[in-house]
Amino acid sequence: MSNVTVCVRFRPLSSKEKRDLGDNICIQSMDSETFIIKDEKEEGFTFSFDKVFYEESKQADVYEFLVLPIVRDTVNSINGTIITYGQTGAGKTYSMEGPNILESDERKKGILPRVVDGLFARIKTSADSTKYTVKLSMVEIYMEKVRDLFDLSKDNIQIKESKTQGIVLSGATEVIYFLQKLLFPLGLTYTEMNMASSRSHCVYMFTLNQESISEKRVKSGKLILVDLAGSEKVEKTGAEGRVLEEAKTINKSLSALGNVINALTCGSPAKANHIPYRDSKLTRMLQDALGGNSRTALLCCCSPSPSNASESLSTLRFGARAK
Ligand code: ADP
Ligand code: MG
Repeated sequence: MSNVTVCVRFRPLSSKEKRDLGDNICIQSMDSETFIIKDEKEEGFTFSFDKVFYEESKQADVYEFLVLPIVRDTVNSINGTIITYGQTGAGKTYSMEGPNILESDERKKGILPRVVDGLFARIKTSADSTKYTVKLSMVEIYMEKVRDLFDLSKDNIQIKESKTQGIVLSGATEVIYFLQKLLFPLGLTYTEMNMASSRSHCVYMFTLNQESISEKRVKSGKLILVDLAGSEKVEKTGAEGRVLEEAKTINKSLSALGNVINALTCGSPAKANHIPYRDSKLTRMLQDALGGNSRTALLCCCSPSPSNASESLSTLRFGARAK
């Protein structure tokens, strides 16, 4: 089995999409893995993925299929990465965090709070002779600069490689969990943490350390969640200046990510030695949680509306290439 799982999620139509085009959607479901999408010229394209989550899918469905197996592996010290990809408004943040990070409705909770619960559930059922520590760093990558979202004054975090810990975010705040409820112990608000929001990549890096008291040995697993910047093409809006620079930078890092995943999945050993991790901050940061023994899940988020068909198609092509 491949170490990369690729799924697609279609969100429900938005009220604006409904106002513009009624209940029209450009998707025809075949089964839970295959569907046809029509572009603006009514040409149909068939895609198959490990799983397709249609509009009525639940947050729990996505978590159980895509994320839970990776959380289990984190406890076995296997690193993992979970990535949401898609145009702005396609449902990346909804899937990753939920409609709101402080969402109290259990059913609406996204991947992030479920991961915290999942890690603690595993820890609780494990042997007493082990001491566990769960740590979280949270950064955004904006214009190829890494900023600490727990301490906004640290706006140029360096990515370094350490012999014992692998890739580290040098000097970034690490919040240690004593209680799983303390998701945002520093009291930052959700909006403060999503400063550049759709124009930046938001990265949640969990480290789980397991210290065996009898053997004096520490095992460690890393689980990284990535809510990517919007993948939309910017040319059509006639962007200039900063917006254009942002778009180019995002584009570059998303293609670097695509190239790395592609090199990992193509299976050729020659290529496997030349995985271009250093082409972007994003891929460098993910280096030891993407490839090797580690596991990767990619959730491609799409609108089902014909008005977004061309962006959805480009998202689906990115996903298809990653398989
Ligand atoms: P993105 O992060 O990709 O820019 P969002 O996650 O912010 O997009 O989603 C855009 C809007 O659509 C938000 O109002 C969000 O609550 C809503 N939405 C996205 N996915 C779903 C879903 N699966 N079910 C219900 N509402 C959703
Ligand atoms: Mg978002």
